[in-house]
Amino acid sequence: RVASVPDPTLLVRRKAALGGELSPLFYRRPLQVVRGQGPWIHTADGRRYLDAYNNVPVVGHAHPAVVQAISRQAAVLNLNSRYLHPHVVELAERLVASMPDGLDTCVFANSGSEANDLAWRMARVVTGRDGAIVADLAYHGVSEATAAFSTNTYPASARPSHVAVFEAPRNAEDDGIAAAARVRAARAALRTAGHDLALLAVDSVFSSAGILTPRNDFMQGLQDTARAAGGLFLADEVQAGFGRGGRNLWRFQDFGLTPDFVTLGKPMGNGHPVAALITRREIADAFTEVDEYFSTFGGNPVSCVAALTVLDVIEESGLVARSGEVGAELRGRLEALVPDLPVRGQGLMVGVELAGAADFAERLRDHGVLVGTTGPGGGVLKIRPPLIWTAAEVARFVAAFQRAMG
Ligand code: PMP
Repeated sequence: RVASVPDPTLLVRRKAALGGELSPLFYRRPLQVVRGQGPWIHTADGRRYLDAYNNVPVVGHAHPAVVQAISRQAAVLNLNSRYLHPHVVELAERLVASMPDGLDTCVFANSGSEANDLAWRMARVVTGRDGAIVADLAYHGVSEATAAFSTNTYPASARPSHVAVFEAPRNAEDDGIAAAARVRAARAALRTAGHDLALLAVDSVFSSAGILTPRNDFMQGLQDTARAAGGLFLADEVQAGFGRGGRNLWRFQDFGLTPDFVTLGKPMGNGHPVAALITRREIADAFTEVDEYFSTFGGNPVSCVAALTVLDVIEESGLVARSGEVGAELRGRLEALVPDLPVRGQGLMVGVELAGAADFAERLRDHGVLVGTTGPGGGVLKIRPPLIWTAAEVARFVAAFQRAMG
C-alpha cells in the first residue's frame, strides 16, 4: 500500500487513533511522507526535501545494499537468537573488535532505551548500589528507569531520589577539574538521599542539551571520578555513534575514554530497529549470576544483517572521514553566513543557536530543507543529516539557509 497522494483525512484520523500530544508531529503543517532515497525525502504533494535531520538513515535513505540484505534474509529465515546462526556472532565480533580492549561482550536489543536500561540493571547488580548520575537536559530513553535519567523531558519535580544531575559542559573553561567537582557534588547528593553511585551515563554529543563539544579532560573527569567513587561509566552512543563525529567510529574514542558500557542504537540498522550494549565479560558474568536477559527480537538474523551491512557501507564508503570533512565544510560555511551566532558540533552533528529556531526550521522547510531543534527551550537548530552528504548537499543546504534568513 503506497500512499502517494495527499490524504486530507490522515491528520484527523491520526489524532483520533494515536492521540495528539502522545504522538507529536514535526511542523505546523506536518509532512505526509512517501519515500526516501539517499539524502532526499519525498512527500505526497510531489515535493522533495533535503534531509538535514535524520541520523537513523545513516548511509542514506533506502540504501540498496541494506534493503537487499534485509529482504534477502527475511525471505530465508528470521527468528529469535536462541539458535546458532552466524549473523549474530559476526555482528558481535565486528562490534567488539571496534571497541577498546576489555569491552569484549555484546548483547542485542531493539532500541537505545532497552540497551541503556540493561546497562542500568547490570550496574546495580555489579556495584550493589542504586544511584545514577546524568547530565542536565539529557535524554536516555523511554523505559521507567531511562525516562527518569532523561532530565530533558522528565519533570524535575518528580525526579526520583536515586537520580542526581551534573551540569553539562557549556563553556571552554569546563575542564576535568570542573567535571570532577560536579560528579563529586552529585554523588554527595545521592548519598544524602540514601543512595550511592552505581552508574554515570552520558550522551557523548550532549545532543538534547544543545549539541555541545566538551573538552577531552571534561569527559575524562566524568569517567575517572565516577570510577574512583566506585561507579561504572556508560557512554551512550545512540546518537553519537557510527561515525557521526567524523574522527572515529565511536565518539567516546575522540575523548580517549574507556567506558564500562557502550550503548548503540538509532543508525545501527539504517532504519531497521536494532540496538546493542557492549560491556566487559566480568560485568556480564556478575549479572547472569543473579539475573537473566533475553529479548525476543534482539539479535535476530534480519536485524543483524542490516547492522552488518551498515558497518560495511560505512567502511567501504569511508563515511567516518567524509563526515569529518563534509561537517567541517558545513560548519565553516555556516560560520561565514552567521558570524554572530554560535555554531557548535563536530562532524555531521551541528548546532546553531539562534532566537526563533522553531520558526526558522519552518522557513527552512518552506525552502526544501528539513532540520530539527534541540537544547534549552528548543533554541538550537539541530543539523544531523545522513553521512552520505557531499559538498553538493552542503551547497544546497547553505543556499536554502541563506534564503530562509530572508
Ligand atoms: N539515548 C540517546 C542519546 C538518544 O538520543 C535516544 C533516542 N533519541 C535514546 C537513548 C533512546 O533510544 P530509542 O528511542 O531507540 O529507545
